[in-house]
Amino acid sequence: MLLLLLILGIPLSIWLHRPWRLQLVSRPLMGYLARAMPPLSATEQEAIDAGSVWWEGQLFGGQPDWRQLMDLPKPSLSEEEQAFLTHQVDELLSRLAALPGNPNQVDLPDEIWRYLAQEGFFALIIPKAYGGREFSHYANSQIVARIAAANLSAAVTVMVPNSLGPAELLLHYGTQAQQDYWLPRLARGEEIPCFALTGPEAGSDAGAIPDLGVVTRGQWQGNEVIGIRLNWNKRYITLAPRASVIGLAFKLNDPDHLLGEQEEYGISCALIPANLPGVQIGDRHLPMGQRFLNGPIRGEDVFIPLESLIGGIEWAGKGWRMLVECLSAGRGISLPALGTACGQLACRTSSAYAFVRQQFGQPIGRFEGVQESLARIAGLSYQMDAARQLTTTALDLGARPGVATAIAKYHITESARRCLLDAMDIHAGRAIMLGRSNYLAYHYMGIPIAITVEGANILTRSLMIYGQGAVRCHPFLRQEMACLQQAEGLAEFDGLLRQHVSRFARHLLLTLVSGLTLGRLDSAPSKGYPAGYYRQLTRMSRALALTSDLVMLLLGGRLKRRELLTARLGDWLSQLYLASATLKRFADEGSAEQDRLLLDYAMQHSLQQIGLAVVGVCANLPWPWLGWLLKRWIFPFGNGYAGPRDRLIAQLAQALLIPDGLRQRLLTLHHCPQQEQDPVGRVELAFMQLYAVAPLHERLQQAQKQGQLPTKVPMAKLIEPALALGLLSAAEAAALQEAERLRYLALQVDSFAASDLERGAWPGG
Ligand SMILES: Cc1cc2nc3c(=O)[nH]c(=O)nc-3n(C[C@H](O)[C@H](O)[C@H](O)COP(=O)(O)OP(=O)(O)OC[C@H]3O[C@@H](n4cnc5c(N)ncnc54)[C@H](O)[C@@H]3O)c2cc1C
Repeated sequence: MLLLLLILGIPLSIWLHRPWRLQLVSRPLMGYLARAMPPLSATEQEAIDAGSVWWEGQLFGGQPDWRQLMDLPKPSLSEEEQAFLTHQVDELLSRLAALPGNPNQVDLPDEIWRYLAQEGFFALIIPKAYGGREFSHYANSQIVARIAAANLSAAVTVMVPNSLGPAELLLHYGTQAQQDYWLPRLARGEEIPCFALTGPEAGSDAGAIPDLGVVTRGQWQGNEVIGIRLNWNKRYITLAPRASVIGLAFKLNDPDHLLGEQEEYGISCALIPANLPGVQIGDRHLPMGQRFLNGPIRGEDVFIPLESLIGGIEWAGKGWRMLVECLSAGRGISLPALGTACGQLACRTSSAYAFVRQQFGQPIGRFEGVQESLARIAGLSYQMDAARQLTTTALDLGARPGVATAIAKYHITESARRCLLDAMDIHAGRAIMLGRSNYLAYHYMGIPIAITVEGANILTRSLMIYGQGAVRCHPFLRQEMACLQQAEGLAEFDGLLRQHVSRFARHLLLTLVSGLTLGRLDSAPSKGYPAGYYRQLTRMSRALALTSDLVMLLLGGRLKRRELLTARLGDWLSQLYLASATLKRFADEGSAEQDRLLLDYAMQHSLQQIGLAVVGVCANLPWPWLGWLLKRWIFPFGNGYAGPRDRLIAQLAQALLIPDGLRQRLLTLHHCPQQEQDPVGRVELAFMQLYAVAPLHERLQQAQKQGQLPTKVPMAKLIEPALALGLLSAAEAAALQEAERLRYLALQVDSFAASDLERGAWPGG
């Protein structure tokens, strides 16, 4: 007893008696942490400071308030936004569908460019006062998604002027004069913008750009003025070959002190007319055979006045902050929209094709192997759209959640890639042969673009989601880090430490209780289905909070370099976000019975990914015994998150092989013209007709079993004999003939005369 009293009593007395705690715990710990914590670079600090913390903060903190999530408004469109979608966007899609195919074409035709400019597609985010559309982020996302499902190149062309670029930067940082001059011109489509940051030497590490602007005197419109002489070399710049105004990021130096004491200002942004002497623009890259414009831009001794700096001289050197702030919000809009659209395209075409294509005497969608891919496409598509909607809701509510938008960008584009891979596998040869009939291959080829831009995905997963998330979302960490940098910060640090330790103790205890009770006592906003999923998420959120504190304590600043660990912790946080978005969507859409299969799939998938992340983190902690203990603490009875069950996979895949119902509810963004001329329309029509005549197929198969009709012959060959035997009426026989005709049409791929290929033309191109 005495020994026990000493072991527990001494540390407890020290902890509870503030003067002792200050001297014996807080001061030495503060010293240790100050030495262990590597200094943050200015660019890292700005990335961490950009934007705000939103719902993901609660998931990270271990105490998600589900009511708060459920009370968020369901995203919706205004009448004007809805009208734009049904008129301008649909008209654009019809014009795009009518374009002749030509693999050598590297741009959209002028007629499409004119239509985009005239209808304000480049002005979705520009306020009405400047002649723009002033649409919500959600509407912007709906528009991009609807276009992207049909045509990636057109979507990228529309996306760029409405995401990180001159308009966005001017809206946030431009001077009144800059806004008044540029925004109306951009809104009318008189100016085509591009934004140039990346160069041969600096891609992901954009803070390292070598492009230089030197403050000097020069001639501008016949007068000598103080301005900036620029030299740059940029590449991969979208819309550059046609751009009339370049948003340029460069480092600003003032060696002659024409502006003041400071010599090096750092990254700055300016707007540069593309026709200035010294600007070399017009060459093209060929990004994965897509038709949008992309190319290098170089500038040699280009002189601009100081007024060209975005935001004026006060914003000189604050370019990195501008970019990170805009990017951290913009990442949650265009690319998630594009990814969701790819998911829906994969879903529509794969489900239709899996019914239309028959092998071994039945639709391939009835084989379990194909069902696995089909169900994954459907479950992920449901989840992707949910995350897209939740993230744009946050942005429309005025939040700028850098971590949530990074999660949306990374996971939605990765899920899109997964869905397109599955769709390619299901279609096999049908999706490999290029040509106009191929509705998948061009999206499949284009998806690496979404993976690469606005923060390449490996970097986003490894560094941004958790690396920034941990510092941003943790309730105390940022303040604690700030204290470490102040000599007088001991008292404040001690207060934070006390709260931090009590939070840790609470999570330690509750994680074990949740594990032992399998989360049955955890919180959920309602009873019955799907309360169990909420409880599991609460349980895993708390376990993440506990693990984060442990990992940070053990590794301190070294965690920054343990990217595999931060990637897994990021997956854990991300799946909590994606799963909670899915629950929110399910509730927003009326908790419909028919959506349960989709929700079940998405939730079981997310929990499985969380389980894998937990096991991966525990297996790689610096002290193996601690990892062993932590895993058993979180999962006392083992990791039960096995992923979607076979029965669920089969049920979901079967539901997709029915044209309406669940499939219809899922495909809200994909526009499908029900016409034979349209490649997707063709397979869709075949699916619907074949589905409608399925009872007749069964009747004929029955007759085959009874020996009335021959076996091992194609369906088309049974129609005539069945009609003659009176097994079919004339109308039924005609419906079957039509279905067989459509099926045959839907299975066709393109082939070309060698002479056409030599000319670089497709049929009709
Ligand atoms: C089609 C297209 C359009 C584009 N449009 C524009 C545009 O309009 N304007 C513009 O300025 N730029 C544009 N870009 C550039 C784009 O932003 C860059 O390609 C991107 O930042 C990545 O740079 P990089 O290609 O040089 O790859 P790198 O930076 O060389 O990265 C290579 C790989 O290493 C990974 N990586 C790098 N650092 C780390 C790290 N610390 N931890 C883990 N992984 C890491 C990356 O994730 C990536 O997988 C475009 C690119 C493409 C492909």
